[in-house]
Amino acid sequence: MTDAKSPQARKTILLTPGPLTTSDATRAAMTRDWGSRDADFIDLTARVRKRLEAICNAAPSHTCVPIQGSGTFAVEAMIGTLVPKEGRLLVACNGAYGQRIAAIAARLGRAVFKVEGPEDRPTDLVRLEQAIADHQPTHLAAVHCETTSGVRNPIDDIAALARREKISLLIDAMSSFGALPLDCDALGCAAIAASANKCLEGAPGLAFVIARTSDLERSKGQAPSVSLDLHDQWRGLQANGQWRFTPPTHVLAALDSALEQFIAAGGQVARLARYSENCNTLISGMRAAGFETFLRDEDQAPIIVTFRVPNDPAFSFDAFYDALREIGVVIYPGKITDAETFRIGCIGAIGKSDMSYALDAVSAVLNKLGLRSGGSAC
Ligand SMILES: *Cc1c(COP(=O)(O)O)cnc(C)c1O
Repeated sequence: MTDAKSPQARKTILLTPGPLTTSDATRAAMTRDWGSRDADFIDLTARVRKRLEAICNAAPSHTCVPIQGSGTFAVEAMIGTLVPKEGRLLVACNGAYGQRIAAIAARLGRAVFKVEGPEDRPTDLVRLEQAIADHQPTHLAAVHCETTSGVRNPIDDIAALARREKISLLIDAMSSFGALPLDCDALGCAAIAASANKCLEGAPGLAFVIARTSDLERSKGQAPSVSLDLHDQWRGLQANGQWRFTPPTHVLAALDSALEQFIAAGGQVARLARYSENCNTLISGMRAAGFETFLRDEDQAPIIVTFRVPNDPAFSFDAFYDALREIGVVIYPGKITDAETFRIGCIGAIGKSDMSYALDAVSAVLNKLGLRSGGSAC
């Protein structure tokens, strides 16, 4: 289905970490208006929550609390609501999103500690265990796929460690939810935060936290924010099925449609298979064009790939980006602290033919810019 329409017929392919390419059906779901108090909108909200819960085996221990805004809003709501004032949060950092969690916790006035590792490596369990011994945290925050580099962190092992140490685990699964397996029951995590517009292929503007119900119950009055209070948002939904404040009606309808397509296509397993094929096509094509990946293959999640900028003074990322953009392929700048890189995403309503189109576009642009390859041997 994804490949039915030629990429050339589309205006743009977004090979970014989100917002990303959505399907025609998902965009079409946004053409009607909804009254936020209507019974059918209340049903829509309940259905989306259930479908999100099903993806990570949430019920009956965990429940989905949607929140207006981008993914960071959900992360901030999760930290603010679930880490109490007297709590101690340890953040496993190997990229910008882990650093962002630590910055959020500090801003919220929570005691926060970081265990920092290199951006090109998954979180090191030995160092994490040592940091737990050093800081005695009540909560641990981890990023599943660190979108900064595209590295996949060992979330099952991190969760096992948190269970053993009896620490509440808060997971930022923004760029993995729906694509990589996540099982609330098996992980025993306190909460998972994610958003509509990454691997679920919805429109941006809606995020959610899937939290342990007993933790939500205990968190009344804990959040230092009114709008980002997950406990109150949850209680509001429980009371009458309605959102406390203006819901992103069209975005929710788009997500409902995207989830229906997700289920029809075979759920998380099928999504992972499609993204893996996209990722393999991308990496082998870019290597053939002379580019080098930043990560080792075994650490790479099939979500977004970081490439090193060619060691050629003639290469300019802006010129490369603009020339690709002109022919309908949108890539992303790098975010690595101490290496010159750029990123190309594998996620969105795209398939192998889109990746091949993008690779052809890269070759055409290298030629146009007078670069012989993506490598240093020019
Ligand atoms: C995209 C992303 C976020 C949130 O980003 P927003 O721009 O606020 O939607 C947080 N964590 C990770 C790992 C992400 O990939």
